[in-house]
Amino acid sequence: MTARLLSGKEAAAAVEAEVAERVAALAAQGKTVGLATILVGEEPASQIYVRGKHRAATRAGMRSFDHVLAAETPPADLERLIDRLNADPAVDAILLQIPLPGGLDPLPFVERLDPGKDADGLHPVNLGRLLLGRPGLRPATPAGILRLLDHYAIDTRGAFVVVVGRSFLVGRPLAVLLSLKGRDATVAVAHTATADLRGLTRQADILVAAAGRPGLIGPEHVRPGAVVIDVGINRTADGLAGDVDFAAVAEIAGAITPVPGGVGPMTIAGLLENTVAAAEARAGQ
Ligand code: NAP
Repeated sequence: MTARLLSGKEAAAAVEAEVAERVAALAAQGKTVGLATILVGEEPASQIYVRGKHRAATRAGMRSFDHVLAAETPPADLERLIDRLNADPAVDAILLQIPLPGGLDPLPFVERLDPGKDADGLHPVNLGRLLLGRPGLRPATPAGILRLLDHYAIDTRGAFVVVVGRSFLVGRPLAVLLSLKGRDATVAVAHTATADLRGLTRQADILVAAAGRPGLIGPEHVRPGAVVIDVGINRTADGLAGDVDFAAVAEIAGAITPVPGGVGPMTIAGLLENTVAAAEARAGQ
C-alpha cells in the first residue's frame, strides 16, 4: 500500500479529548451533559452503532440515556417519547437512530425534535442554517469527515471534490459544507443518474464515496495521488466493506480511509461535538 492511511480512530480520539475538556468545564459549573438515544427495533447494526455512541459519550464524561422501543411501537408512542425528551432538562441532545424499522419515514420524527437538541444535526432548522452558512448543529457524518480532513491537514480550498451519493444524511449536506466560504472546495455530487461516473471521479482531488455499494469505486475511478474518503458501511459475505476497493485503490491514492476505523468513528465524534455544543448553548455559553 502506498497511500497514507487516514485513521478515523486517531482523529476521533483527538476530537473526543477536546469534547471531554468542554464537558469537564460544564461539569465544573454544575452542569452534567446528557445525551439521549432512541433505538427502535432490534436491527443488529443499529444496536452496535448505538452502543458505540453510548460508550463514546461515557468516555467523554457525558451521561447517556438509552431508550429502546419495540419495532412495532406505534408512531404516537415514539412522538410522545420525543416530546418528553425535548422537555427533559437533563437531556441536552437526542439521537434518533435511523433507519427506522419497516421503512418508516424518519423525517416527521426528526422534525419533532427540538432543533436545539438535534444530536445528528438533521432537523430542517439546522439544515437550513447550514445552507445559510450560519452557526448550528451540523450533520454528524459530514462534520466528522471535515474534522478528519482537518486532522490530517488536508486543505479543501480550491480542491475539486466529488461526492458520490446525495442522501440528506451524508452526500448533500457534505457538498454544502465543503462549498461554504472558508472550506472553498468546488464540489460535484454524483448519483445513480450520473452519466459518466468514472470520468467524473477521475478528476477529483478528493473523492468521497457515500453510495452504500460495496466495491463501487475501483482504481479506475481514482486519479493517482487523490484523497479517497470511504463512507460506505456494507455488510457482505466477507464481512464489513466500504464502497471502495481498498486494497487496489490504496496502491494509487495519495491518502485513503479504512473501513472500519475511518469515517465511522468520526461520525461518533461529530455526534459528541454536537451534544456538547447543544449543552453549552443551553447553559448560555
Ligand atoms: P442512501 O440514502 O441509500 O443514499 C445512497 C446514495 O448513493 C444515493 O444518492 C444514490 O443515488 C447513490 N448511489 C447508489 N448507488 C450508486 C451508483 N452505483 N452510482 C452513483 N451513485 C449511487 O445511503 P446513505 O444513508 O447516504 O449511506 C451511504 C452509505 O454510507 C451506506 O453504506 C451507509 O451505511 C454509510 N454510512 C456510513 C456512516 C458512517 O458513519 N461511516 C454514516 C452514514 C451512512 P440516487 O439518489 O440516485 O439513488
